[in-house]
Amino acid sequence: MKEFELIDFIKNYFDSNFIGDDAFFYNNLLVSKDILIENVHFILDNNFYEIGAKSIISNISDILAMGGKPKFFFLGLGIPNRIKDDEIKSFLKGVKDYSLEYNVKIGGGDISLSLNDFFVSITVVGEVINVPIQRNKAKVGDYIFVVGEVGDSEIGLKIIKKEFFCENSEYFVRRHYIKKLYPDFIYELVRNNYVNSMIDISDGFLQDLEHILKTSKKGAEIFATKIPVSNYYKKIKKILGEYKFLEIVLTSGEEYGLIFTSPKKYVNKILELGRKFNVPIANVGKVIDYSKEIIIKDFNKKLEKKGYIHF
Ligand code: ADP
Ligand code: MG
Repeated sequence: MKEFELIDFIKNYFDSNFIGDDAFFYNNLLVSKDILIENVHFILDNNFYEIGAKSIISNISDILAMGGKPKFFFLGLGIPNRIKDDEIKSFLKGVKDYSLEYNVKIGGGDISLSLNDFFVSITVVGEVINVPIQRNKAKVGDYIFVVGEVGDSEIGLKIIKKEFFCENSEYFVRRHYIKKLYPDFIYELVRNNYVNSMIDISDGFLQDLEHILKTSKKGAEIFATKIPVSNYYKKIKKILGEYKFLEIVLTSGEEYGLIFTSPKKYVNKILELGRKFNVPIANVGKVIDYSKEIIIKDFNKKLEKKGYIHF
């Protein structure tokens, strides 16, 4: 079974109403869990600090994507014998720096010897700020927003895998591991009831938008060129070419920016709030009645990677 099939199977097998969003919610409680495994999610190469940072950031992102405030985390570690104490300490420093940055405290964890691969399993607990923001509440006419710059993570990964070379490669590699999150902005959005549905970009913009659309039974029209990108990313447009430039923005995973949808009447307020909090944000399209494919208005090639049809 593929990942999503298996999740569906588990959901049905356990007859669960809870599974399917970025985090579990019950009353005001939010819980999210992620596993990161060596050679699947990361390759160890003198980058323990970065892996630590990434592990905690990706979990915090899931709580934010529910419109919640992360509070505590639980740290599960599988550690092979070959890993040195100093390396574990670097990893922990990465976790600590970003737990301080985003104000989450350690509540516990578990440690085991692992025979081959290093792995990390973090659970984050948070609290709902106003109401939990689910994936399945997008409405026809909602405007679709992206928060955070998209694309850098994939470029960073290509550089790590030695598949791509460019100037400022350190910037991209860093961005692959360490994404900027915008908690205060999200809290303000949610307090004001501006948001109908939200998800974080862990699988790629198109795939994650599709999660919102499928669960909400809606379609979307979007403009790929409106998705926020960094100045560094703009600088490599010439090397990538127009097609790759947009394809990467549409499909780059582990970005931990957010996609959310809001009623049209809040658009100006949201953009104003974005300026106030100095957040990269753009209105990239709108929600329409159910359609089989996401309609991309400014990108008319078929994507090799995801097999989407575009108009
Ligand atoms: P994300 O990328 O936001 O972390 P996932 O795609 O990993 O989300 O998971 C989607 C949903 O499936 C979540 O609600 C998650 O809790 C649930 N899920 C994933 N794996 C399992 C599992 N092994 N058992 C139960 N629920 C799971
Ligand atoms: Mg998520």
